[in-house]
Amino acid sequence: AIKHAQEFENDFHLLFLFTRLKEHPKLKEKFNTAFGSLFSLAKFHDDEVLHIHFICDENGRTYVEDYLQQHIDHPEFKLKVHFHNINTLGDQLLAEVGKFKSLLGKDGKNNAYYDDALFYLSLVIHKILPQNVRRLVQVDLDLKFMVNIREIWDEFSYFTHENIIGIAYENQPVYRNVLWKYRRENPGTKFGSQLPDGNPGFNSGVLLLHLDHLRSSKVYNSYLDNKVMGQLVQKYSFQGHLGDQDFFTLLSFERPELFFILDCGWNKQLCEWWRNKGFENVFDYYFKCGETVKIWHGNCNTPFPKE
Ligand code: UDP
Ligand code: MN
Repeated sequence: AIKHAQEFENDFHLLFLFTRLKEHPKLKEKFNTAFGSLFSLAKFHDDEVLHIHFICDENGRTYVEDYLQQHIDHPEFKLKVHFHNINTLGDQLLAEVGKFKSLLGKDGKNNAYYDDALFYLSLVIHKILPQNVRRLVQVDLDLKFMVNIREIWDEFSYFTHENIIGIAYENQPVYRNVLWKYRRENPGTKFGSQLPDGNPGFNSGVLLLHLDHLRSSKVYNSYLDNKVMGQLVQKYSFQGHLGDQDFFTLLSFERPELFFILDCGWNKQLCEWWRNKGFENVFDYYFKCGETVKIWHGNCNTPFPKE
């Protein structure tokens, strides 16, 4: 890929979702592993600031504040933590992604609905965060960092002007399954097929969101429309349930130029749920990764490999 010159920027924005701690106590353990590994390797220059944004509820905020006080009291670089309360943000989020009612499949202005809408946050986060946040890395909490997180922002320098999002492929034949009907009717299609020639679909555990490009892309924003997306869902006989990664996967079928593909080492998913569900003979084509792993993703509650 060609490396593009970019303006010097010393603000590094990182965003986590952290809600429903009470209902999912395992999230604490995940948080501890993610933050333990993140801070043990993170290094930034003196003139740089790591901004960590949390989209959370009250319990999430309290947990984060206690954790940071206990473990990261004196980070070796400038750190700024921003809390965005889900109840304050919820109405705006609903206004933006409420359009996807038919995709979300739920209705009503309660917290449960906010929670569903949250899985679509990355689609519209460029409309929610202030304009001075120009690029954002949004990641899951079930991660283990193996390198200095600062390195991931270098990937933005490979973006073309059309690229709005950097994202890695899904490491299971999830979309091969989701698209079974379309694939039966369109033999030889790339959609849902394995690499190197196929497009297996995406995993949204690690997202590089170029907020400037997202804000200015007429093409991208034209797809934030229930009718437009409804047509795509129909065209591909698509029955998903995975939130933002379904949206980005569908969009990539129509507009591949919007996406910068992160190498598998940036989001090496460990979940093997689909291995023994009728995909034994193709599973490893999706699962294998020849790159050095920089971020492990313990999705579907999969433990990380021991060193
Ligand atoms: N998450 C959360 N509360 C929940 C469930 C999920 O805050 O009750 C956030 C958390 O950041 C998590 C992300 O949503 O990492 C995506 O969920 P998860 O990683 O469990 O999904 P998977 O990667 O296994 O599909
Ligand atoms: Mn995850």
